[in-house]
Amino acid sequence: MFALLDCNNFFASCERVFRPELAKTPIVVLSNNDGCVIARSQEAKALGIAMGAAVHLVRPLIQRYQVRVFSANFELYGDLSNRVFSLLQESLSPKAVEIYSIDEAFLDLSMLEPRLLVDFCQELRRQTHQWTGIPVSIGIGQTKTLAKVAAGLAKKNAYKPNPSTHSGVFSLATLPCHNDSQDSILAQVPVQDIWGIGFRLTPALQGRGIQTAYDLKYADDAVLLKRYGSTLLRTVWELRGTICYPLKTTCSVRKSIVCSRSFGQMVESFTDLMQAVATYTARASEKLREDGLQAGCITVSIRTNRFRPDEKQYRASHSIRLPVPSDDTPTLIQAARQCLEHIYQHGFLYHKAGILLQELTLLSARQQDLFEVPSEHSAVLMKTLDKLNRHHGHGSIRFASEGLTRPWWMKQSHRSPCYSSRWEERPRIQVQAL
Ligand SMILES: [Mg+2]
Repeated sequence: MFALLDCNNFFASCERVFRPELAKTPIVVLSNNDGCVIARSQEAKALGIAMGAAVHLVRPLIQRYQVRVFSANFELYGDLSNRVFSLLQESLSPKAVEIYSIDEAFLDLSMLEPRLLVDFCQELRRQTHQWTGIPVSIGIGQTKTLAKVAAGLAKKNAYKPNPSTHSGVFSLATLPCHNDSQDSILAQVPVQDIWGIGFRLTPALQGRGIQTAYDLKYADDAVLLKRYGSTLLRTVWELRGTICYPLKTTCSVRKSIVCSRSFGQMVESFTDLMQAVATYTARASEKLREDGLQAGCITVSIRTNRFRPDEKQYRASHSIRLPVPSDDTPTLIQAARQCLEHIYQHGFLYHKAGILLQELTLLSARQQDLFEVPSEHSAVLMKTLDKLNRHHGHGSIRFASEGLTRPWWMKQSHRSPCYSSRWEERPRIQVQAL
């Protein structure tokens, strides 16, 4: 038996955790550089503010209804996400939790008696809210796909004007898979709302008369397999209650690490561009060490603003394979500099840079180089650096090549404090003895 736990309006909910006075206020969160809306609280959704809307287009709504606007604060969201997931891992077991995205996790509930499922999830939901401040919805089903469908229905329930005691948890599992009542629910779920059915597949399926999850469940296997391949067929079988996607409990080693961002203002000089590249490299190296990995290859890419056709356009990328895989920030910054020197062209206004670390291997499986003098010093230095940055917030201690003034830093005029991870931004509490 599976459950999907989904944090409601996650980024907007995170902004509320340390600002309880905003509980009923409509909230929107903006993308990097404050460009468009990437998250909305339930109240903001009700006002008709669309997902992905450019902020200048919804400005009148924001002003009229006094919507609170926040710049994305991924440090805060990542931290609160970790709190939710470690609570789940403690309540169940690390082996029963698959972290699927920053705000979603699949749970293996097969150790519970079926009649206890809903009550257990109600309690988990209550506890998550109480301990982390994040409201969640939970869907239960015989397969991951059914659990996803159920979570979608649970979320809809949670915001009904008079939510019942069971709001926020929805189970498709108490209904046998071939029971009419489960089918009647699936008949109300549009086909595009099913996990794995993308916007490209939707019109094709609709064209064949497949409008709902029910239609898809009873579609012809042979036709689907021939037309759309085995991936869609797996989804169909999962709707019928056959597990095709087991829980991925073993933490699989990641294949690559990306860090790329657009700038708050255009960048022209090599020095400024190199500062950004060095900063992204330092951040990616930190992630590398968090996972006990080392990189064998680094790629740097730069580009001008493709939305400004009036300006000269240029984009390029270059990769370097390191002589020996490394997790050492100075080594990786040095390699990134060589990449940038290779592709940098004077006379363009750059809008975005990114770095990509590949050929990742576990540090514990490190192949020594015959001519390499192993540096104990570097490992100790990196460990200390990471410890300080974890304690005081990312980028508190940084390399000179990352720059001090950083004019290219993204625009975040409405960022909330990193309450949970930076000492100087923690909320102050005044206690007065009576
Ligand atoms: Mg969510």
